[in-house]
Amino acid sequence: MNRRKFVTAVTAGATLPRLSAQPAGSGPVREQPLTGEFWGPLHYDEAERSQVVEVLDLRRPFRFGGRTGTGADKVATFEKEFAAKIGTRFALAVSSGTTALESAVAALALGPGDEVILPAWTWHSTCTAIVRACALPVFAEVDESFNLDPRDVEARITPQTKAIFAVHLQGNPADLDPILAIARKHKLRVLEDCAQSVGASYKGRRLGSLGHIAIYSHQESKTISSGEGGSVVTSDPELYERACRFHNVGNLSTVHQQAIGEARLGPFVGTNARMNEVTGGIMLAQVRKLDKIIAAARANAARVYEGLADIPGIRFRLRPDPAGDLGSPVFIRFESKAQRDRFIGAMKAENVPVSPPSGSVILPTTPYIENKVTVHPAWPTWNTPRGKSIQYGAACCPRTIDILSRFAGIAVGPKYTSRDIQDIIAAVHKAYPAALKG
Ligand SMILES: *Cc1c(COP(=O)(O)O)cnc(C)c1O
Repeated sequence: MNRRKFVTAVTAGATLPRLSAQPAGSGPVREQPLTGEFWGPLHYDEAERSQVVEVLDLRRPFRFGGRTGTGADKVATFEKEFAAKIGTRFALAVSSGTTALESAVAALALGPGDEVILPAWTWHSTCTAIVRACALPVFAEVDESFNLDPRDVEARITPQTKAIFAVHLQGNPADLDPILAIARKHKLRVLEDCAQSVGASYKGRRLGSLGHIAIYSHQESKTISSGEGGSVVTSDPELYERACRFHNVGNLSTVHQQAIGEARLGPFVGTNARMNEVTGGIMLAQVRKLDKIIAAARANAARVYEGLADIPGIRFRLRPDPAGDLGSPVFIRFESKAQRDRFIGAMKAENVPVSPPSGSVILPTTPYIENKVTVHPAWPTWNTPRGKSIQYGAACCPRTIDILSRFAGIAVGPKYTSRDIQDIIAAVHKAYPAALKG
């Protein structure tokens, strides 16, 4: 299932009433399906509304123009508050997670001939940002955290490798310590893609503050959202300047110049990935709610983990730092795809839908990567001897394919009621043993 289909599936029927459980054994645990929820928009209230109205009333929808201190500086204020929240010196707000990645790739000055190691299971943009810079994507396996397996990184390093992209998927931090150690040993840069884990942390530090640079998405399905939007964070003023210039057709705005002190670079070829003030206003209201939203989601997920702990033999997704995980989805591990698929069917019958790992793709097996398709036949990525010889496809990530076929995830939202949590626990107690028996 692609992300759009998944999103449609989880939102379909969102207005249906949540009906309470029936007595055990007599029919499904719920009468109406439990549905997923988008955390950010679910928390929209007067705070977001008044930010948007203020921008409209000021008639200042564009972020630049020397209006600091007039109230017409939503994006700039969001950048300050977001950087403070993550614990980096700088944040840059942009138009999407994808343009955040492209800005971060520009910040790292990646280009033709450079190789980047990334997990075989991630969203398209993690890879397309590399290819659009004409650099070469090199895939490594994921482990049972669904994130980059540190044990598979070193073998993929060549003299051309410049960076490792650690992606933190579905709220769960990648095991960063060994990844950072490998990067230090080989003098590589680390980009953290935190698009799906905004606010999560690893050993007490927020994701995004541990690598050289990091990106976030504020698209509708992510932790906090304005429909579309993204951010780049770093504590390195030179990386920040290059990202700022790239996102603003090579120019450095006054507000960003003031943030870094002295400019170190001149203009270069960039793009327009600027965030507008309406989006900035919504994100400002949302970042102020981030901790509340994730605390609620974590508390609900913790109840689910607790409630399932007594099921004999049950195992979950690998979590390198359970306290830093956003908690949802709660992924249950099976020995085979057949067991997993039986479990999905049984949970559907209980009206507590679960799904395979989603919101990402096994990129080496997507036809456009496997066949190296770009808009131009002479695209530099795959026209070097190395680019021509590298092989993608299922053969480069068999463990990733196997792992993803054996897990099913239960979405746990921040506003799920105690009843919802009880229904989840009851449904798994029925469906899990049945799925193992087959
Ligand atoms: C969503 C996502 C992106 C891209 O973000 P958009 O805002 O949709 O452009 C990048 N990486 C990952 C891992 C994502 O999940």
